[in-house]
Amino acid sequence: MRPWIAGNWKMNGLSSQLGEIEAIAASVMAAPPHADVLICVPATLITRAAQVAAARIGIGAQNCDSEVSGAFTGDISAEMLKDAGASAVIVGHSERRQHHGETNAMVAAKARAAWRAGLLTIICIGETESQRKDGKALSVCADQIAGSVPDGVALAANALAYEPLWAIGTGHVPTPEQIVQVHAHIRQCLAVRWGAAADHVRILYGGSVKPDNARAILALPEVGGALIGGASLKAAEFEAIVGAV
Ligand code: PEP
Repeated sequence: MRPWIAGNWKMNGLSSQLGEIEAIAASVMAAPPHADVLICVPATLITRAAQVAAARIGIGAQNCDSEVSGAFTGDISAEMLKDAGASAVIVGHSERRQHHGETNAMVAAKARAAWRAGLLTIICIGETESQRKDGKALSVCADQIAGSVPDGVALAANALAYEPLWAIGTGHVPTPEQIVQVHAHIRQCLAVRWGAAADHVRILYGGSVKPDNARAILALPEVGGALIGGASLKAAEFEAIVGAV
């Protein structure tokens, strides 16, 4: 399976920062990486980012609505993201689950919408710090997979991202043993439901991945790539992580 290195710019990025995308695309062209590369930009930048990326890297979105169109002021459908130039979308990021009340059922509906529109998905799951302290990390992830990952499409080429909330933007990274344990559990949950098709789902790790820890994390069993927040904003840092694959 080819690893997937995906950046998540969150609510950061103006047109003046498109040069970072251009630089990443140029470095991928100069030294083709052993990974698929994607940057998920704010919706406002998708079209221009896709233009400067010139298909050398994928451009993704960070959320979508589950409906195709209609009276949903301010929302953006998966079809619109695709039309703007996106090839993938993150759904169920913990910041959307926390700040926008997204439930597993809503995340599943968004993933279905993305597949309907022909977008790849990165479906995010992960436990809070208190859930981990209570020994619930594995069961929380299993519940999120059961509720957030829809049936009905070949999952291959799509990804799940394991993002423990306590590791996002904090500089705290789980131990290698913790990452290996959760990723193995995710693979097992997928296999129970989807059988052999689950073998092709990439399980990304996300949470404080930086150039100095990427190599070790990406070498762990069942880590099929990374979802990167802060370190995706600067081309040099992101390129170093891509180079670590
Ligand atoms: C994220 O937002 O998905 C993320 C992993 O952020 P960071 O890399 O900054 O921890």
